[in-house]
Amino acid sequence: MSDCIFCKIVRGEIPAKVVYEGERVLAFDDVHPQAPVHTLVIPKEHFTNLQDDVPPELLGELFTSVREVARIKGVAETGYRVIVNNGPDANQTVPHLHIHILGGHHMTHGMVNLGPGQ
Ligand code: 5GP
Ligand code: ZN
Repeated sequence: MSDCIFCKIVRGEIPAKVVYEGERVLAFDDVHPQAPVHTLVIPKEHFTNLQDDVPPELLGELFTSVREVARIKGVAETGYRVIVNNGPDANQTVPHLHIHILGGHHMTHGMVNLGPGQ
């Protein structure tokens, strides 16, 4: 995907603050952090979202990387929230599968605002 932002980050064409790199995954800090820790974990290969036939081994590697990123960012013990926005109703803005890892402060109870949005 030549014009995909996250594919460009994987290719080094757009700079990113890389937190962790595995054989098939890359983790980097979100450019507009919504918590003291806000890191994204992505597959290096382009998949639009979880509906995109992501191989189970790759899903396993992605979530193992979430654990590793939590350790690196110092939130493994204090806790963190994991979010994957899939498709229009979830307001997925970058169509390359990514896992948000949010932490570093105490968050509101519950998930996120699940009400109707704009
Ligand atoms: P979504 O809304 O699709 O779940 O999340 C996309 C995320 O990607 C947003 O939190 C946004 O701040 C982040 N993002 C968009 N463009 C870039 C970029 O060029 N670099 C980085 N590091 N993050 C980006
Ligand atoms: Zn991509």
